[in-house]
Amino acid sequence: MRLGLVIDLDTCVGCHACAVACKQWNTSGTTGPLTDIAAYGAEPSGVWFNRIRHYEVGDYPNNKTVNMPMSCMHCQDADCVTVCPTGASYKRKEDGIVLVDQDKCMGCNLCAWACPYGARELDPVDGVMKKCTLCIDRIYDETLEPEDRQPACVITCPAHARFFGDLDDPDSQVSRLTRERAGQTLMPELGYKPTNTYLPPRVTRPVPTDDVRRKSLISSVKEWVNQAIVR
Ligand code: SF4
Ligand code: SF4
Repeated sequence: MRLGLVIDLDTCVGCHACAVACKQWNTSGTTGPLTDIAAYGAEPSGVWFNRIRHYEVGDYPNNKTVNMPMSCMHCQDADCVTVCPTGASYKRKEDGIVLVDQDKCMGCNLCAWACPYGARELDPVDGVMKKCTLCIDRIYDETLEPEDRQPACVITCPAHARFFGDLDDPDSQVSRLTRERAGQTLMPELGYKPTNTYLPPRVTRPVPTDDVRRKSLISSVKEWVNQAIVR
């Protein structure tokens, strides 16, 4: 079994609800707390398992904002595990989830340097490494209703842009989406073999702005006048 997330970059609206839900669950759940140091000060900082990056692609008027949530990819060949000198960082054989044993971690930060996705953050208060656990304390909790046994970020996403499941099972929803929408992993050339997969944004026609509409109307009139003069 290879559990992970599939994230639809076409429908993600960049609202950060998943990041806030992650923070809330992991602060009040059993794996927290995630510290926020002077979160509202001049230089807000804190530990987050999930961060949303925003990119502008293309040139106006063919530009598009792409919102890209990023958390631990639960890589199959994760150097964050092999560099750990205490064995605190490990990958579970049964489901592929990468975890940190908080009792063994000495906070040396080596795993964060080894992670090319910026998925690990040192908790300066606890002095240990923290990262996405795929809400392991939710997904196996049999006291929850089956539909609630999913990571907090997946349940919360108002755009239904996040999917959770077994990417080794060809019949799972995540595998089907990956096949149908040509899902991509991030920076495959690095060889970490990330499990989390992104569904690329669809190519859409630009929505003409007033400027463009006005310009195209003027150029159509000019074209028509030119043609009339030539005749
Ligand atoms: S994304 Fe980073 S922290 Fe997560 S498994 Fe891969 S290398 Fe390790
Ligand atoms: S909650 Fe959903 S739509 Fe909002 S940022 Fe996260 S993935 Fe995107």
